[in-house]
Amino acid sequence: TPPAESYEYQAEVSRLLDLIVNSLYSNKEVFLRELISNASDALDKLRFLSVTEPELLKDAVDLDIRIQTDKDNGIVTIIDTGIGMTRQELVDCLGTIAQSGTAKFLKALKDSKDAVGDNNLIGQFGVGFYSAFLVSDKVVVSSKSPKSDKQYVWEGEANSSSYTIREETDPEKLIPRGTRLTLYLKRDDKGFAHPERVEKLVKNYSQFVSFPIYTWQEKGYTKEVEVDEDPADAKKDEQDEKTEKKKKTKTVVERYWDWELTNETQPIWLRSPKEVSTEDYNEFYKKTFNEYLDPIASSHFTTEGEVEFRSILYVPAVSPMGKDDIVNPKTKNIRLYVKRVFISDDFDGELFPRYLSFVKGVVDSNDLPLNVSREILQESRIVRIMRKRLVRKAFDMILGISLSENKEDYEKFWDNFGKYLKLGCIEDRENHKRIAPLLRFFSSQSDEEMISLDEYVENMKPEQKDIYYIASDSVTSAKSTPFLEKLLEKDLEVLFLVDPIDEVAIQNLKSYKEKNFVDISKEDLDLGDKNEEKEKEMKQEFGQTCDWIKKRLGDKVASVQISNRLSSSPCVLVSGRFGWSANMERLMKSQTV
Ligand code: ADP
Ligand code: MG
Repeated sequence: TPPAESYEYQAEVSRLLDLIVNSLYSNKEVFLRELISNASDALDKLRFLSVTEPELLKDAVDLDIRIQTDKDNGIVTIIDTGIGMTRQELVDCLGTIAQSGTAKFLKALKDSKDAVGDNNLIGQFGVGFYSAFLVSDKVVVSSKSPKSDKQYVWEGEANSSSYTIREETDPEKLIPRGTRLTLYLKRDDKGFAHPERVEKLVKNYSQFVSFPIYTWQEKGYTKEVEVDEDPADAKKDEQDEKTEKKKKTKTVVERYWDWELTNETQPIWLRSPKEVSTEDYNEFYKKTFNEYLDPIASSHFTTEGEVEFRSILYVPAVSPMGKDDIVNPKTKNIRLYVKRVFISDDFDGELFPRYLSFVKGVVDSNDLPLNVSREILQESRIVRIMRKRLVRKAFDMILGISLSENKEDYEKFWDNFGKYLKLGCIEDRENHKRIAPLLRFFSSQSDEEMISLDEYVENMKPEQKDIYYIASDSVTSAKSTPFLEKLLEKDLEVLFLVDPIDEVAIQNLKSYKEKNFVDISKEDLDLGDKNEEKEKEMKQEFGQTCDWIKKRLGDKVASVQISNRLSSSPCVLVSGRFGWSANMERLMKSQTV
């Protein structure tokens, strides 16, 4: 056999390893969660591929995870029968960082102020495979991929900038398929090799892994054995013995070791909502979506009838990309399962609209084929029905937040995700009815707080027919616009649209509860107080002045007119009835550069 070859880690990995090895992190136990989650991912990949290539399963049919402990030597071994890694994959996956969870950790680390060894972040993100070095001096990964005839061994040590790869030659260590990971624990961490400790951690952290996890446990059964009496007793019992030859027995416990199923394998979405606690939902969310904050809402439901599926949807606590970024359609926010087999999380609006991409969730259907492709997704009637139901449930869930006693919940939601809903006004006409009540705006009467359209409508004057708004770049400038004067005088409330997308959203809605949205900066604003006699008089008196001003300004304005909409300002620039508002002009300009 060729000798072991040595490789250098990618620079980021070295840095990460330094950080982990030198971390004072007390919650080191997350290593087990991370390694189990990798085993589970590897099993998922295999199960998915075996749908079209059933021969992949031939070497080992059981899909499971086994954790063995050797407490005398401080060794923990984690074995899975998943997809395994080829030699090249060992280099690519364990020597470089290209992967989701760990990359996310590094980014968060970069963004965090306390850049040197932020211990807290390690726990939140886990840092994937490298978490093994939180507790180990040495890690050995022996892996057999169905793509390769040979099994290879990756070996790395804490405090080393390189690792080695060699072929597995020990016949005892050969496995038909999958990965065997051996951790040689640090002196102070040998406690993790106690079977009870591992059992407890598995129960704690891995309840949502959908493959069986077995741990190596000492067991016992009782049995009756005959005993030789000791002479003292014999003497005392002599009398009895004469009358009756009775045999003495005693109960003993026989000890042996065996695998024990340690987790519950039924996926959380298949359980009855009554049996699942909020903590369970939150844990499942954090594990599944690599999140570290609890979601602010969740919804677990089953639909029956035409199409049957089960789903859990979540609203995250914060926006993944920062609230000012535009919506990223490739967020992998919905994980689709068919009959419990993970199919894909890579959709582009087929299963869930893009503007709702901040909502995360799992969907499991029995009605789709296991080998469902993108083309099938796009054309399937079943998928269209599922999408409709999912959207409805998502809006119910968001409405739930808005009705919560705790007003702050929705304020936070709106701050993070309001933009997405406004995008919905533009992209999803069909759901205007559901989106509109969720919108929030500042208004001329709202001070710091934002109001809903329902609150606006309730506050309308009896004779008021329309919903008034003005688009501006800030509340302060909206407040000082001359267009407001007349409306303030009449105590009419005006919405302040201060986010550039607000105005487009409102124009798409057109009306709310049969009341039209009216831009108070447009020239035809009618407040129902026309006095024709007086207007005629004014026109006569100032007609020439208007002509003169128009001449002076030339093409800069379309026309100069007498108006009754001001009370203290002498004049105001308005947009034509069919023209863009000043705000829209600003917006369009900023789009074209
Ligand atoms: P992540 O799980 O976020 O991708 P990790 O650092 O946990 O990052 O793992 C890195 C990669 O190593 C995984 O994406 C996977 O390709 C590979 N890997 C780790 N553990 C296993 C395993 N038990 N079986 C197969 N591949 C694995
Ligand atoms: Mg991982």
